[in-house]
Amino acid sequence: MLDRADNQPALPPEIGRRRTFAIISHPDAGKTTLTEKFLLYGGAIQMAGQVRAKGEARRTRSDFMKMEQDRGISVSASAMSFEFDRWWFNLVDTPGHSDFSEDTYRTLTAVDAAIMVIDGAKGVESQTRKLFEVCRMRDLPILTFCNKMDRESRDTFEIIDEIQELLALDVAPASWPIGMGREFLGCYDMINDRLELMDRADRNVKAASIEMKGLDDPLLDEKIPPHLLEKLREDVEMARELLPRFDAQAFHDGSMTPIWFGSAINSFGVRELMAGIGNYGPPPQVRPAEPRQVSADESKVSGFVFKVQANMDPKHRDRVAFLRLCSGHFTRGMKLHHVRTKKPMAVSNPVMFLASEREIAEDAWAGDIIGIPNHGQLRIGDALTEGEDLRFTGIPSFAPELLQSVRAADPMKAKHLDKALTQFAEEGAAKLFKPMIGSGWIVGVVGALQFEVLASRIELEYGLPVRFEPSQFTSARWIAGPKDKLEAFMKVNKGHMAEDHDGDPVYLTRLQWDIDRVERDFPELRLTATKEMH
Ligand code: GDP
Repeated sequence: MLDRADNQPALPPEIGRRRTFAIISHPDAGKTTLTEKFLLYGGAIQMAGQVRAKGEARRTRSDFMKMEQDRGISVSASAMSFEFDRWWFNLVDTPGHSDFSEDTYRTLTAVDAAIMVIDGAKGVESQTRKLFEVCRMRDLPILTFCNKMDRESRDTFEIIDEIQELLALDVAPASWPIGMGREFLGCYDMINDRLELMDRADRNVKAASIEMKGLDDPLLDEKIPPHLLEKLREDVEMARELLPRFDAQAFHDGSMTPIWFGSAINSFGVRELMAGIGNYGPPPQVRPAEPRQVSADESKVSGFVFKVQANMDPKHRDRVAFLRLCSGHFTRGMKLHHVRTKKPMAVSNPVMFLASEREIAEDAWAGDIIGIPNHGQLRIGDALTEGEDLRFTGIPSFAPELLQSVRAADPMKAKHLDKALTQFAEEGAAKLFKPMIGSGWIVGVVGALQFEVLASRIELEYGLPVRFEPSQFTSARWIAGPKDKLEAFMKVNKGHMAEDHDGDPVYLTRLQWDIDRVERDFPELRLTATKEMH
């Protein structure tokens, strides 16, 4: 992660109090429940539970959404903002299913930190690990929440060891659980020397905390049965000896994670976690861009699109582009410079996702996520600025791992199919390749389930039944190099050549051997499996 120089002045207060983060977890670990409790503590809604209730109401609207529900996956992502204490939180939802890794990757480019939620009985599961690897590529600071301590869980040291070993990450306990399962009473706050007790009677009550003067405070004897207290004292002593202390710099560098223990469903441990995000940050970070990096406190507005979501309202063909503001103070109605097309763009009806309702944003600061309704002008990777030609880097497009050709069941509807596919390509839901020879399209995805998702969306949103069929190709590489060499190559490899939806040349391959051959015979050309969005 890029750092502001030490001698830089502090960020303006509105920017400095912003915390933009995502939750990474394995399905079922408690991400939704924790989100609800964030909102409960954030005071954004009266009753926790609305996130899910609203989600389900939305899901019943269509078969496609039903498919999401059947498979227990969440396809539509969003961003939510809420205030807690003196901080302003922007929580960006990560799509949960492993098939959507590219989307998830891009979501993680929009945040400054991530919360890793693990299930105390299961530890670090496969999806968590994958998502963590993505965070590591950017050295994102990670805060860990070990959930479901009200159930039989693993031993605390064992959980910590597992994280250290599997993820090669130092773990500093911010709290220590007292008992577990039926005996779980709460936590000892290792940072503030406080006792936090859980109230099982009311799950929506905000936990009570009791000030302590260290582990010898006689108050502990009053509150904790002797066998649990003895274990707590032993454990904490051992933890202080064996485990590293929290180090803010190591956390910022992504090499250490503080861990809190709790039970999201009982609203327990959530407030301490939120205070942790607030206190340790980080605030909006410096973003890599060309020709220069961008610091959050610059007075001019800039931001990039990391996600495009179509048909949030099925009656309209409108899309919402999600923009991460990287600098400045945005106010509604501002005319911004759309760097890719070099055209001005008046942002007159930006949407902020405050709690569970969309609201028109009157203003927003670096770190915030705003939704910009548009008719397709905004694409993933696009930058908006106050005039400067900036390109935010590190928002890649990955080569698809599965390719299929697609046809409309009714050949008269080919034009409609073009339109539908273009839309999904712009949303980033699939890669679209137009072969140089022949008609039709080849669609590329990262996970097989995406073909099904696409087929049902095309049918639902465009009334167009389609068939995906195996293609002779198995992979694709972007190809670049000197113009004459590239043209010569394309001439003799017409059968393998296609254009992606940006018009960039792509080499479709059948075997790894094809790639090796090009690399051997055309050393001036570069084949790449990722492309920076532009
Ligand atoms: P997600 O798939 O990660 O979003 O997980 P959910 O938030 O939907 O939670 C999965 C299941 O675990 C649900 O049945 C929750 O009620 C349950 N759950 C969540 N947090 C806790 C907790 O702290 N303790 C217990 N016992 N169950 C929990």
